[in-house]
Amino acid sequence: MSMKTQLLVLGGGPGGYSAAFRAADLGLEVTIVERYPVLGGVCLNVGCIPSKALLHVAAVIDEARHLDRAGITFGAPQIDLDRLRNYKAQVVRKLNQGLAGMAKARKVNHIQGIGKLTGPSTLAIERTEGPNGRPTGETLTLTFEQAILAAGSEPIRLPFQPQDPRVVDSTGALALPFLPKRMLVVGGGIIGLEMGTVYATLGAQVDVVEASPDLIPGADRDLVRVWEKVNGKRFAGLYRNTRTTALEAKDDGIWASFEGANAPEGAQRYDLVLVAVGRRPNGRAIGAEAAGITIDERGFIPVDAQRRTNVPHIFAIGDLAEAPMLAHKAVHEGHVAAEAAAGHKRAFDVLQIPSVAYTDPEIAWAGLTETEAKAQGRAVEVATFPWAASGRAIANGRDEGFTKLIFDAETKRIVGGAVVGVNAGELISEICLAIEMGAEVADIAHTIHPHPTLCESVGMAAEVAEGSCTDLP
Ligand code: FAD
Repeated sequence: MSMKTQLLVLGGGPGGYSAAFRAADLGLEVTIVERYPVLGGVCLNVGCIPSKALLHVAAVIDEARHLDRAGITFGAPQIDLDRLRNYKAQVVRKLNQGLAGMAKARKVNHIQGIGKLTGPSTLAIERTEGPNGRPTGETLTLTFEQAILAAGSEPIRLPFQPQDPRVVDSTGALALPFLPKRMLVVGGGIIGLEMGTVYATLGAQVDVVEASPDLIPGADRDLVRVWEKVNGKRFAGLYRNTRTTALEAKDDGIWASFEGANAPEGAQRYDLVLVAVGRRPNGRAIGAEAAGITIDERGFIPVDAQRRTNVPHIFAIGDLAEAPMLAHKAVHEGHVAAEAAAGHKRAFDVLQIPSVAYTDPEIAWAGLTETEAKAQGRAVEVATFPWAASGRAIANGRDEGFTKLIFDAETKRIVGGAVVGVNAGELISEICLAIEMGAEVADIAHTIHPHPTLCESVGMAAEVAEGSCTDLP
């Protein structure tokens, strides 16, 4: 069987569905080819959203524990894992239904199947069925005028990783198979630490092992130090400069061996191991070569400012296109590619892409970091406002954080900024806007922020920069 479409969108994640909806709104006839029956991709189904549903639960448990110092005590949490899984599933289902409605309203056709390019204008589709996207054996050829590739990424496996249900990737960890007594998280990046936070708060003894010298690479170290201080007790062990060299499945658990000056001594037994060592783009899994599309050595598809590949009527966006692998970047690129496909003048031209670790405390940063500024030899100044001087942070019993602004030494324009503390992921947006609008420190300092709030800390950091921060909120 064969079909035709004006615009093919391969992959129904945040990049794919955003591109499809925008293109349909601009009058294109659009077909999404997605393996699974629901839209939302990794982010909605097995990434951003379910992880935040679980992190919300963990934060409430923590908050309740913090109240001890205010004279309020609760008993130990009673955890019903089935109901917790249900809560997470309901959150995801609600958003799945919303996306299905949006696709229907725009007459975006969703074909459930696995697509592989077979030429510059043809896609072979192996039809799939059911929630697990099982192949049915039925095939279909789709001819397209233009295409937006949004096939995302896959978790990287360790070469010695055993096939065992007790060794999971982020998708397996989000499924909450059971509550382990001892858990190992291999990889101290954002995903590993977020999932580690959830399991540790639910009662597991969690060790985190990171091969590089730093947890959360990419963020300035002063932010991570605050996180480490708060989390020293939550995690059983945080091991940097430590390589996991073997994982062996035995009847009594998964035995892990390590290498490194600070590594745990001898093989350690764990009930559950999460491997979170990064993700690989799906560039080589979608037949891109058959369409003449260039793929780089890491599996990313290089694109221009409109997100066109070297084959001009085919675009690539999201995790497939380049780092950082973040949903908000994918959505933004989806809009750019869709508008370009519809003939509009639009380019991906951003000054910052924010990153957030939704841990406790959260760490968020945008634009240039201090570390990058130093490496580039760029003359910047940094102003920091400690939350120990924030009335709201103190009232919340969470004043360990700080907010910093990084600005050009000459023009005083904001070029970067970061927040560590509760809700940092919400607070970073003002800094994102300031960077994109070319705001100067004075613009933020002279903006009245509501009192008493945590967002006031952005204004106070600007006042520190101006030398006018005399009143403590
Ligand atoms: P994806 O979301 O990966 O979607 C790709 C889709 O393409 C998938 O649905 C897949 O089934 C489909 N597909 C692939 N190949 C084919 C094929 N050949 N045929 C048919 N269909 C195919 N990002 C954030 O910004 N914030 C967060 O808090 C955050 N948390 C995360 C937590 C976890 C645990 C993980 C794993 C990721 C997280 N991310 C987060 C990253 C975010 O999920 C990704 O950056 C985002 O989903 C990328 O979107 P995308 O559209 O490029 O691809």
